[in-house]
Amino acid sequence: MYDSTGETTKRSPAEIVQTARAAFERGKTKSLEFREKQLRALLRMYNENLSTIMDCLAADLHKSKQESVVLEVEVLINDLKNTLQHLKTWMKPQHPPKGLANMLDNVIIYNDPYGVALVIGAWNYPLQLTLLPVAGAIAAGNCVVIKPSEMSPASAKFMAQMIPKYLDNECYHVYLGGPQETQELLQHKFDYIFFTGSTTVGKLVHAAANKHLTPVTLELGGKSPVYLDKTADVNVAARRILWGKAINAGQTCIAPDYILCTKEVQGKFLKAADTILKDWFGQNSKQSPDFCRIVNDKHFQRLTGFLKNGKVAIGGNVDQKERFIDLTILTDVKPTDPVMQEEIFGPILPIININDAYEAIKFINSREKPLSLYIFSKNKRDTDLMLQNTSSGGTCVNDTVMHFGVETLPFGGVGCSGMGSYHGKYTFETFTHKKSCLYKTYGAIGEKLGSSRYPPYSQAKINLL
Ligand code: NAD
Repeated sequence: MYDSTGETTKRSPAEIVQTARAAFERGKTKSLEFREKQLRALLRMYNENLSTIMDCLAADLHKSKQESVVLEVEVLINDLKNTLQHLKTWMKPQHPPKGLANMLDNVIIYNDPYGVALVIGAWNYPLQLTLLPVAGAIAAGNCVVIKPSEMSPASAKFMAQMIPKYLDNECYHVYLGGPQETQELLQHKFDYIFFTGSTTVGKLVHAAANKHLTPVTLELGGKSPVYLDKTADVNVAARRILWGKAINAGQTCIAPDYILCTKEVQGKFLKAADTILKDWFGQNSKQSPDFCRIVNDKHFQRLTGFLKNGKVAIGGNVDQKERFIDLTILTDVKPTDPVMQEEIFGPILPIININDAYEAIKFINSREKPLSLYIFSKNKRDTDLMLQNTSSGGTCVNDTVMHFGVETLPFGGVGCSGMGSYHGKYTFETFTHKKSCLYKTYGAIGEKLGSSRYPPYSQAKINLL
């Protein structure tokens, strides 16, 4: 761990949780002023360290400046500005409608913070996926322990060094490490756990949270399908699908994982894709400054194994030294091939041939519920058919990934792709306990009206209810 002067300090999870809990119990995080001060400090942290942030993302993932700005920093900054603008209103207690029986009473919903929250981040968008929930947890009045992913070490170190410099040292803590350190943290009682990562680890986090009955949000992954039909504008569709796959070299939880289309549409898509990819990345995408690398050797080996499935129709070049894999489109893929058994999480896009929307629906529903579903069609009937007969965390019609950026839409999974959601006001709500309160007075009229509830019971009293 680092302290506010940038020196390393050794503190155990027990000490960290204890410090945060003591601060929460003293009510330190409760006031609007304190929360706003911390959120403004977070905003300053981004604005004052932009070039360091770019360097960290380039070191971890070879991220281009544009992807770093648009998909990491801008998302964080816009979210903070929106939160700061609305926080006072969000915090206010609500007064829901009440029935006749409570005519003389007050019916209130308080927005209480949970207490000490644990936020466990993933490496693929290492800052955004960790700090977006952190901002929501702060806004909601919680203390937070932050565990960045060890697989993006430069970004993890940035958070560990900067958070103590900008945020309150008692309430907010960064704990570095991998699976073992995360397991150590999970031994402790938290009041909320927000986890972003794989379904496999999500289940472990859920089990650990269960021991203390801690509520969780699990932002997990899965295979997000694309349905592309013959009515779609194939050139525009290809650009939007390939962009969703190309960003971060396919290492995006909502990247289009595979395409479902007819053989005829496949031919048109491949023709368009070939032109588009050359346009974007040139003849050799390894030379392009805009194409990311695979995060580590283990994932590189896993992904190159998939290139043996079906037929390479486009791409297929790899470079182990740089952990580079070309954006590769596979045809003649069988649903039973390894590439169709797990989330790809890399720049490989298999195509599975189906004949119509009904077959596509059957295919999607025979698998775990995806994080996103993408439908490319101008046919309203088939689009509605897909929307009404499938279940996924979110959907996007005629585009990919862009629903993520709409802050009024809740973002999250369903089934094996996760539980709970966040973004915009939903992040505040995620970290807020809705405490209901019936507030009665001692007025004589109220007491008389309600007196039929007291013994001795009688049929006459039942009739009055
Ligand atoms: P991961 O599950 O391997 O790691 C996530 C976090 O869990 C890391 O902080 C890691 O240190 C910790 N961890 C790893 N193994 C652990 C263990 N055995 N016990 C306790 N903690 C452990 O996931 P990842 O590789 O960082 O991310 C890739 C996955 O995350 C993909 O499945 C992707 O779809 C998903 N993801 C989902 C979203 C979303 O918003 N839904 C966003 C990004 C990534």
